Amino acid sequence: MIKPLIIANWKMNPQTLREAKKLLEVTKKAASKIRNISVVVAPPAVYLFPLAKDVRGNRIAFAAQDVYFETEGAHTGEISMRQVKDAGANHVLIGHSEVRARGETNDDTRKKMITALSAKLIPVLCVGEITRTNTGEYFNFVSEQLTTGFAGVSQTALTHVIVAYEPVWAIGGEETMSPREMHEMTIFIRKVIVGLYGAPGHKVKILYGGSANEENAAPMLRDGNVDGLLVGHVSVDTQRFSALLESLK
Ligand code: PEP
Repeated sequence: MIKPLIIANWKMNPQTLREAKKLLEVTKKAASKIRNISVVVAPPAVYLFPLAKDVRGNRIAFAAQDVYFETEGAHTGEISMRQVKDAGANHVLIGHSEVRARGETNDDTRKKMITALSAKLIPVLCVGEITRTNTGEYFNFVSEQLTTGFAGVSQTALTHVIVAYEPVWAIGGEETMSPREMHEMTIFIRKVIVGLYGAPGHKVKILYGGSANEENAAPMLRDGNVDGLLVGHVSVDTQRFSALLESLK
C-alpha cells in the first residue's frame, strides 16, 4: 500500500487560535515520529492562515472543511477555493455529511469538485449512506453520490481526487464498521469509479471515516483495503490522536 493518508477533521474546534496552535503543535510532533504516513489537518477556516504560515516542510498539509462553488462575488458568508488556497490549504473536503445535512446536494458537490480542481486543490469527496438496511439500498445511494460528484471531473484529474467513505451512522461514536465490511465497500466504490472512467479509476484514493480511533485505525488500514482515514472527534483529543498515529508505526 502507498503511504496512508490521515486527515484530521477538527470540525468547529477548538474555540481559540491559541488552543488551535497548541493542538497543531502536538499533532506535528506526533506526525513527525512516524515516517510512513501523510497527515492533513482540516481546521476551521479562520485558523488556516495563522496555522499554515508557520508550518515548514511537507510533514503536515492543510485542508478546508468546506468551500463555496462560485469563484468570487456577492456571496455573503462564503469562502472561495482561491481564498483557502491562498491561506495555505491544498485539500478541500466536499460533501461532508454535516454539510449535506444543512442542505448540500449532490449537484452542489459536483460544482465544488470542478471549482476545487480548477483552483488546483485536491478535493476529498465525502460519501456515505445515512442508515443501512439489509435491502442493500445504500449501494444505490452511494453510487448516486459518486456519479453526480464526479460528473465534471476529467480522467486526467483523477490522480488528484480522493473519496472518503463515511457512513453517517458510524460518525461521532466509538464503533467503526468492520474492516471486512469496508473492504466490500471499497470494492464497490472502486467499481463505480472504474465504471465511469475505466482503468484510470484505480488512481483515486479511497479513505474510511467514521469513529476511527487508536484501537481500530490499524486494523482498518490493514484489512479495509483503504488508502487512509478521515478522523473527526479523536483528532482534537491530543492524547488519542497521538496514540492513533503511533498505532500506525
Ligand atoms: C467525520 O465527521 O468526518 C468523522 C470522521 O467524524 P468522527 O471520527 O468523529 O466519527
